[in-house]
Amino acid sequence: MNCQLNKEQVDEVIKKYGSPLYIFHAEEFEQNYLELLNTFRSIYPKYNIAYSYKTNYTPRICHLVKRLGGLAEVVSDMEYRLAKKIGYDNAKIVYNGPIKGEGMYEHILLGGVVNVDNLEEMKAIALFAVEHKEITVHLAFRVNIDIGQGFISRFGLDAYEAQTGSSELDSAFQMARSEPNIKVAGLHCHVGRSRGIEAWKNRIRIMFKLVDRYFSSVPEFIDLGSGMNSVMELDLAKQFSGHIPTFKEYAEEVAVAMKEKYGSLPYEEQPVLYTEPGTTIISGNMSFLGTVKSIKNVKGKSYITFDCSGGNMGDICHLKKLPITIYHNGGEKVRCEDADFVGYTCLEHDHIYEGFNGEIAVGDVVQFRNVGSYSNVFKPPFILPNCAMIQIDKDGSTECIKRRETIDDIFQTYIF
Ligand SMILES: *Cc1c(COP(=O)(O)O)cnc(C)c1O
Repeated sequence: MNCQLNKEQVDEVIKKYGSPLYIFHAEEFEQNYLELLNTFRSIYPKYNIAYSYKTNYTPRICHLVKRLGGLAEVVSDMEYRLAKKIGYDNAKIVYNGPIKGEGMYEHILLGGVVNVDNLEEMKAIALFAVEHKEITVHLAFRVNIDIGQGFISRFGLDAYEAQTGSSELDSAFQMARSEPNIKVAGLHCHVGRSRGIEAWKNRIRIMFKLVDRYFSSVPEFIDLGSGMNSVMELDLAKQFSGHIPTFKEYAEEVAVAMKEKYGSLPYEEQPVLYTEPGTTIISGNMSFLGTVKSIKNVKGKSYITFDCSGGNMGDICHLKKLPITIYHNGGEKVRCEDADFVGYTCLEHDHIYEGFNGEIAVGDVVQFRNVGSYSNVFKPPFILPNCAMIQIDKDGSTECIKRRETIDDIFQTYIF
């Protein structure tokens, strides 16, 4: 997988769509998606992907996921409405999140499963079940577990026994069981910042323990959330400490465990295994083009200022050196050492790339790769509206999938 463009492609898209520009690499995304899916299914066929909308909710990406058979994983009414607009049946929407909106009730009425995060939500759903005796309310619990992440997560119902003798998860199960029309269909967990193999061994081990404790029969599904590494270019991968597991290595822990526990049951009775990749499948398949506008030297330090900002690309550009390619456009090259690429904003910390060594000229275009997660969805309306996004298809053809924002887009909600 490599989303590096050639010079002709860069010239063509900049001429056609302008700079800066997001690029969604549709073919690479599809390959990457299918690699994850098929790696897990080759071991445990009843596996599916629930794509995390918040990570990158670009509608074209959501449509592609739907075409590939994936579910929509949403954490707010905004995302729920988007999934409905994309054309999803509620059976294929996973409604997560600590604070859900009114859409949650519509989702329940239409037969969807809600992953309950807290007791307040459980109370509201129990009340709703009492008021709607004619339907079955399907829910699951997001459990708060320790998979060795080294911090206390604030999400989900605490699955461990509190000092008073019973956990919040115990209470949630009790409340659910006291309503005959509530069905607990499965268990869910999601722990961020925990992408190692050990954390996945722990996820499945602890989830099995909880399933055995709380379910008298086989649950309909076990949802392990996100937290697998994406496929990365070497330049980026080597900035991470330790081994970066492959999809196969994750599957060998999780899918194999599912197969061992449930593989002998008839297919219809086996629980579905879900994971909820966002970063895992989108980060490597979007790139960004920016143009060098000025090069200055201040007290011996070189600053290369771009027509874009770190805000376009998200936190990753502050945490790591993104994989980049420079396309020279005939300007006078400057040799730099330990130069910083900086953005158009007036923030001192708007650094896009630090420690650049090499030649660069005003007018050069730089492709920044691995910017698919928490980028366009995270871009603040700070100082300038956001730029356009295009999709590049298998045959090299391009299409605008998000137009450039206008000044009116930004100010239309303010009262003048
Ligand atoms: C954020 C989130 C995801 C996706 O996480 P990534 O790190 O982007 O892969 C999946 N599930 C839930 C519940 C989330 O909150």
